[in-house]
Amino acid sequence: MVRTAPSAVRLWHKDNSIMWIKGDLHVHSHCCKDGSLPVAEIVERSKEYCDFLAISGHCRVPEFFRAEQQYAEVLEARKKYNIPIFNTGEVEFPVPRHVIFITTPDNREFELLQSLVPRFCRRNKVEGIVAAMEELAFLEREWGEKVFMIFNHPNAPDVSTEDLLTIAGSPVFKVLACVDRRERRAPQTWDVGGAWDQLLMQGHRISARCGSDFHRHFDDGGDDQLPCEFVQDCLEVRENSYDEIFKAYTTGRFFCQAGDILFDPVFTFSGNGRIKLELNFKSEMERVELISDGKIIESFDVPQEKFSAEFAVPEGKYYRVRGIGKMQKRKYEEGEFEPLFLLNPLYP
Ligand SMILES: [Zn+2]
Ligand SMILES: [Zn+2]
Repeated sequence: MVRTAPSAVRLWHKDNSIMWIKGDLHVHSHCCKDGSLPVAEIVERSKEYCDFLAISGHCRVPEFFRAEQQYAEVLEARKKYNIPIFNTGEVEFPVPRHVIFITTPDNREFELLQSLVPRFCRRNKVEGIVAAMEELAFLEREWGEKVFMIFNHPNAPDVSTEDLLTIAGSPVFKVLACVDRRERRAPQTWDVGGAWDQLLMQGHRISARCGSDFHRHFDDGGDDQLPCEFVQDCLEVRENSYDEIFKAYTTGRFFCQAGDILFDPVFTFSGNGRIKLELNFKSEMERVELISDGKIIESFDVPQEKFSAEFAVPEGKYYRVRGIGKMQKRKYEEGEFEPLFLLNPLYP
């Protein structure tokens, strides 16, 4: 699955030694009550789609989540499969609702959840923005730059822009989710001028990601697709390692998509206030938009498989790109879905 980058000018910086890998950080195993598969079986079945993943069971009271078992299964799977498998949990954040904290295996990965859940679980009535900031301050103190937070499905329930702006005051908050589970797209992240743009306009370098939120597959009577089977995070790395994945997520060197439509994008400043954009598509596209400071500044119809442009842009705090594909047939259900992608921002 690991693809080597073929040409010299790459996304966000120039370097021949990078490659693209795909993965998913939002995956439930049978170690939480509403998951269905052992960790090894998830990896076995999704390895044709994924280069890495995180196992992130619903992390609450012990009767809902078997933390030790999940960790033991992750350790076993790491021995058997030669891909990074992060061990984490979907935590009940004091500001509703779900977040995931990611650290690498060499940074007390098991202790992370064991420390957080007894102190900060919203289901134990630890609620509100003050408690949320205390949790993030605790992490900053105890784990420093070795941990980052993803805010999952900010539309389920809707989290206020005000709360997100406050939370973004913590350096631990790095990623906001766009698509989680099936085709559930968060307008906070997707919409032009939404919460994500508000965060970026305030100078918070937050990136967007997608996750399968895998619980039970269609083939097993559920309604989920495997990690990376439908949505993907595509990371620009030097090798497929925990540290490189951590770095790509915390610096925004990745893009996310639903429908596996885009590969090998180039999105870079090319001097004199110009931006270079090159996109390669696997399927038919509807349009591509360049967004800056909460507004669409360029919109393109994309009839071909390849799109390439270089253009002058107005001054802005950041530039980002989103794209929408032509409707496609669903793989396991009747009807169609709308493919999409989001490139994470360039900052001048
Ligand atoms: Zn969730
Ligand atoms: Zn979930």
